[in-house]
Amino acid sequence: MKVKTRFAPSPTGYLHVGGARTALYSWLFARHNQGEFVLRIEDTDLERSTPEAIEAILDGMNWLELGWDEGPYYQTKRFDRYRDVVAQMLEAGTAYKCYCSIERLDAMREEQMAKGEKPRYDGKCRHGNTEHAADAPYVIRFKNPEEGSVIFDDQIRGPIEIGNKELDDLIIQRTDGSPTYNFCVVVDDWDMGITHVVRGEDHINNTPRQINILKALGAPVPLYAHVSMILGDDGKKLSKRHGAVSVMQYRDEGYLPEALLNYLVRLGWSHGDQEVFSMPEMIELFTLEAVNKAASAFNTEKLNWLNNHYIRTLPAEEVAKHLEWHMADQQLDTSKGPSLEALVGVMGERVNTLRELAAQSRYFYEDFSDFEEGAAKKHLRPVAQEPLQLVQKKLAELADWTVEAIHNAIQATADELEVGMGKVGMPLRVAVTGAGQSPSLDLTLHLIGKERSLARLDQAVDFIVKRAAD
Ligand code: GLU
Repeated sequence: MKVKTRFAPSPTGYLHVGGARTALYSWLFARHNQGEFVLRIEDTDLERSTPEAIEAILDGMNWLELGWDEGPYYQTKRFDRYRDVVAQMLEAGTAYKCYCSIERLDAMREEQMAKGEKPRYDGKCRHGNTEHAADAPYVIRFKNPEEGSVIFDDQIRGPIEIGNKELDDLIIQRTDGSPTYNFCVVVDDWDMGITHVVRGEDHINNTPRQINILKALGAPVPLYAHVSMILGDDGKKLSKRHGAVSVMQYRDEGYLPEALLNYLVRLGWSHGDQEVFSMPEMIELFTLEAVNKAASAFNTEKLNWLNNHYIRTLPAEEVAKHLEWHMADQQLDTSKGPSLEALVGVMGERVNTLRELAAQSRYFYEDFSDFEEGAAKKHLRPVAQEPLQLVQKKLAELADWTVEAIHNAIQATADELEVGMGKVGMPLRVAVTGAGQSPSLDLTLHLIGKERSLARLDQAVDFIVKRAAD
């Protein structure tokens, strides 16, 4: 049997990390089993679904590179099919028209609740109700079995059994002819040949109802795996209060998709004590049995650690591809400086996020006229004038602007003045970067370029002279 899974988000908001993890597990399971992965947009809730949310979900999936083999299907484009299935069910007697008024249903619910009973439809119309006008509005209900129970073997949680007495006759079509949520899911899973439903645990209660409808249709029943929720680091359900929850917000904050995916796969799944998984490794190792039943807590520090790991270890051109977005976002004109690959090579060690990397790299692309206050006070003092002028002279004389030649020029300056490297290096650093922190000086100067470095040294000497005069 060919495995076929799906991710079926409702487009009522962005793709949040919980949804992304469900998508990832579903995608990994399909890939692990050489199966297929379907993307289905469950947009039947016309009031809450928006085109922006559809766009945001597709953006998130694309950014994470969770590609689908089929779809995206849209439920709103399948209404004819749902109506046909409802008609078949009426014909087969597995569904019936219910004419009960809202007033009757409300009164019944109140009465049941007053008695401490679970509210449920009493089945008045199940066996035919003739007490209604010919044109009276009706809904269509599924004839849920009255006896026995539904048992399914949750691939994560183990066997789950629900008595049919607990389930009432679900409305599958509303008075306006529109199909209801659970019904669409069933018809879709059937039509799309889904073999494994991987979804959030908030859908566990829907599963027995869906299984009963599938059985009534004579459709194969897929296997189900309900993934637990993600909690914030305070143990409460993950929400906006905890910071970023939308996948694209993680992009905006400077995370690599590889890092977020690696983080998400470990959030509720494990393979020994391994923390770092490449995509091919995840595909090779992922199984539903190893997914944790318990809720998992989000841990930003670990995500940062993974992000730093991937910034350092992925091929620089891969990281550069993602960095480009951040450079543009921070209005950095990258045509006026080193290549992004080179920048990643030099700055990657020092940051947790691409946003930080971009923010700390401005001086490679833009000149500046102000020095960081504290750094200037400490390092651009009159005693720094001589070292700066001497190092400038030596740098100017370099025929090849290589890292090694730059390093030697700085060393030779310190030797000639008989001072430690720091007495040359720190003023030089502040002069060329405007601040007291940067990667190693030879690399930094190399990337900034000769002309620009020499001009900045002029600027720093002017600054010292002017300050001394004031
Ligand atoms: N549309 C549902 C949701 O976004 C998922 C339904 C399912 O996976 O069966 O929560």
